[in-house]
This record gives sequence, structure tokens and C-alpha cells, in this order.
Amino acid sequence: LLGSTGEIAPTIFAEMTALATRTGAINLGQGFPDFDGPAVVLDAAQRAIRDGVNQYSPGRGHPELLEAVAEHQRRWYGLGTTTAEVLVTAGATEALAATMLAYLEPGDEVVVFEPYYDAYAAIAGLAGARIVPIPLSPPTFEPDVDRIERAFTSRTRMVIVNSPHNPTGVVFDEDVLREVVRCAERRDALIVTDEVYEHLVYDGRHVPIASIDGARDRLVSIGSGGKTFSTTGWKVGWLVSTPERVTQILSVKQYLTFVNGAPFQPAIAAGLRMDDEAFDTLAATFARKRDLLTRGLRSVGLTVPDAQAGYFVLADGSGLGFANATDLARRLPELAGVVGVPLAPFARASRHDLKPWMRFAFCKRDEVLRDAVDRLGALRG
Ligand code: PMP
Ligand code: GLN
Repeated sequence: LLGSTGEIAPTIFAEMTALATRTGAINLGQGFPDFDGPAVVLDAAQRAIRDGVNQYSPGRGHPELLEAVAEHQRRWYGLGTTTAEVLVTAGATEALAATMLAYLEPGDEVVVFEPYYDAYAAIAGLAGARIVPIPLSPPTFEPDVDRIERAFTSRTRMVIVNSPHNPTGVVFDEDVLREVVRCAERRDALIVTDEVYEHLVYDGRHVPIASIDGARDRLVSIGSGGKTFSTTGWKVGWLVSTPERVTQILSVKQYLTFVNGAPFQPAIAAGLRMDDEAFDTLAATFARKRDLLTRGLRSVGLTVPDAQAGYFVLADGSGLGFANATDLARRLPELAGVVGVPLAPFARASRHDLKPWMRFAFCKRDEVLRDAVDRLGALRG
């Protein structure tokens, strides 16, 4: 697993956060908020600790969270989800890892939209499988329905759909999701959907692939409390699938983490049960931050596509003479006192069209975003 270097390199997020810490630059690299989420969520965790919810939770997760996830799928998407279809995990990351390790064999292919969240390729690699990308191209990064089928082969075991999408902020249209389901059916592939940004949609509407005809029998849906409730450090996520698959994935998960942070689970359940207005307020807060950073980066001279959702905007540095965003990202603390991440680790080396692109996180306090934009003005000169 460790290859010729004897180790797996640190993720780009860890590398860039370390760079920000070392240089004192503003960290718009790794996607974590620099503010706390809803008080009901934080209070519920403190209460759970005081009430003694401090030992191992049941294997599939705290009953309150299992119920809240099932209820959430019914309330938002009209899906008849039951608690037997839910498994709590250590963030979306463990849900992805346990699912991929459970079903992938060496030589299998995993179809992903590229750029992709870095963990997909890394975990596929741990399982001996390899990714086959469907390219999303600048400047819009919208998926092209006609490019989906050719990524599927007789070796395709799984397709991963991440909408709302990290790093592009694109929300996939229903016709894209329908085509994914059609291709997965044709090749008898498992669909894994990563919907950690489902509640952070600012333009358009999130359609869960679970609502598309034919998807649910071959689907593992993955969610997380970290992004929605600004609790990325709690690492509480979940997956929803058939009871049979939940049991199969649990058989792997029991040897990854066994169970997860007990008091945080009823707290995330309290978050999932917030009323519609509270969810609207969260999305409106993030939409304002997206606008602030988008306007600011454009005013500096960077090309920034509209992000419909999520925590991030992309920026093309070539207009300012930076053809290689990996070099730019390493020099940005010294040039402007800001950290972002290059898009290169989200794609294969052959994606030359992505080389000048960087990703900046807007899940930060408004004054921090304003300060970052002021500093980035230095690039103009
Ligand atoms: N999937 C995507 C698309 C992400 O952006 C992230 C990072 N938050 C994760 C999965 C991992 O989520 P978690 O922190 O819940 O493990
Ligand atoms: N998902 C977060 C991002 O895209 C970071 C998670 C991590 O550090 N692995 O920035």
C-alpha cells in the first residue's frame, strides 16, 4: 500500500492547513467553518455528555440518530426510509471507506466525476480498484450527459455521484442522475452517492439520486452532519441502503472504528430535526459568504464560475499570469497571506485544463473573507 516512498503523502488539505498555520496566512484551503453551528446542536451534545451518553453506542449507531436520519429522508425527499436502512459512521469518510472496502475487488473500476473529492481515488486504491473519470470541464464544470456512458465498462463495479459537488459547487441536473442510473443498471454497478452538501444549496434544487426510478435497489446514500451543522470535527456521518447491504457494510465498519462518538450522535439528530426555517437560515448565511468571496475574487481579476452549492468557489489564476495553481498555492501565503488549494489533487495528472485552477473555501466569518480579498488584491500588481 505504501509504495516506493514508504508512505502515502499527506492530503492536500492537511498540507495546506499546515502551511497556513506555519505562515499565519488566512486558511481558505481546508473546508471547515471558523464559526460554530446552531446552538440546539451544540447544547444537545453538552446535555448528552452530562446525561452520561459517554460509552460505546450500539453497533449501527445511537437509536435517536438512526431515527432522525430515516425521518430526514422521509421529510425532505419523500423516501420511505426505515431505521433498518441506516448505519452511523465516522463522518462520510468512513461510510465511503467501509462501502468501498466491502464491495471492491482488485481490478474493479469505479466511475467518478473529475475533478473528484480526493478520498474516492485514495480509498479505491486501498481496495486495489481504480477510478475511471468522467471529466467536468471549465469554465462551467457542468456534467455532459453524453460523456457518461463511455466511462462504464464490463469491469465497472461502482459509480460515485457527488452532488452538490466538491470542489466545483455544481448541483447535478436530474437528466444526469437518470443517465447514471441507466448506465449502472446496464452494467449492474453499485451507485454510491455522497450528499454531504445536501442542505447547502443556494441556486437550484438538490435532487437525491435515491428519488430516481431504479436507483434505490443498487444505492448507498452517504450523508454527514459536519458540513450542515458546522461540526466537521465531530465526524458523525451515516449511510442509507437496503438492510442487507447495511449489514454487509457494518461487517467491515466494525473493524474500522467499531462505533462512533456517542454524545455527538443525539446532537446531530437534534440538528436534523431543526425546522425548515433554521435550514433556510443556514443556507442563506452560506449563500451570502459565497457571494462575498465570489465578488471579491472577481474584483482581483480572477475568473470565478458561479458555485451553486457547498463550501467552495473555484478560481482560474491564468488571467493573472499564474498557469500552474500548484506553484501558486505554495507561494500564495508569501504573495498575499492567503491559503487555497490547487485543483490538481482532485484529478489525474493528465488534466492539463485544470492546472491553473484553485479552490477557495467561503465557510469563514465575513470579516475573514473581506480581509482575504483585500490581501489577494496584492496579486493584481
Ligand atoms: N465527501 C465530500 C464531498 C466532502 O467534501 C467531505 C469533506 N467534508 C467528505 C466527504 C468527508 O466528510 P466527513 O468529514 O463527514 O468525513
Ligand atoms: N472535505 C474537506 C475539503 O474538501 C476536507 C476534509 C479533509 O481535510 N480531508 O476541504
